[in-house]
Amino acid sequence: MQLQDMLYSQGFGVRRVCSGLVQQGWVQLWDAQANEWVAETDSTADVDPEGLRFKVQGVEWEYHALGYVLLNKPAGTECSQKPSAHPSIYSLLPVPLRTRPNKNAIQGLQAVGRLDQDTTGMLLLSDDGQFIHRMSSPKKHVPKRYQVTAKHAVTEQQIERLLAGVVLDDDPKPVKAAACVKTGDNTLDLTLTEGKYHQVKRMLAAVGNRVEGLHRAQIGGLVLTDELKPGEWRWLTADEMALLK
Ligand code: URA
Repeated sequence: MQLQDMLYSQGFGVRRVCSGLVQQGWVQLWDAQANEWVAETDSTADVDPEGLRFKVQGVEWEYHALGYVLLNKPAGTECSQKPSAHPSIYSLLPVPLRTRPNKNAIQGLQAVGRLDQDTTGMLLLSDDGQFIHRMSSPKKHVPKRYQVTAKHAVTEQQIERLLAGVVLDDDPKPVKAAACVKTGDNTLDLTLTEGKYHQVKRMLAAVGNRVEGLHRAQIGGLVLTDELKPGEWRWLTADEMALLK
């Protein structure tokens, strides 16, 4: 693959911009034999992108043919590209992640299912259409675990009702929690396998309680740990991808 095409595929701009970056000496490749970074000024130089170590304007970058990213969403951010009242989660990502081309359109990574602006925690982003579909389709039943802080003390009866199924206003078919564990007087761990609009908030309201705080802690087998602080992102590893299968 030509160096300029590799840079284009990773979101560094249209090919003319990418070739300019290279020609001006802004792109360095790791020379393992010499054990040093070397500027490559030929934009048509042939590179094998898998495992390539490269820097653009001094910042080391990883090549990903398709992108899979984990973001710890902070409160007060919207999952929309065009937010109405709060900053967009996309403003937390470096520009190349927002400008990666996808089937020739500059779309960047897309959030895999949305969280409300006040919800915190695990958000996945990708430009792999099949992955996005598999993770967000209600038919695939990928479990998502939420830590809920409720306004009122959680009762055993409320837990039984959440597990048995409650009817929401837009669908006569009841929705059930796949798991529901009380973790404190006002807190519970709730696992859902669908992804309806405001589902946790509406389910808690349906049993006579109210969500005061909501944090997504897990999707499939992947758990969000403290090492990724609110507002931070990182690429998913191959081992983590396997936990989402
Ligand atoms: N359920 C909700 O009510 N809000 C979210 O953000 C996610 C699930």
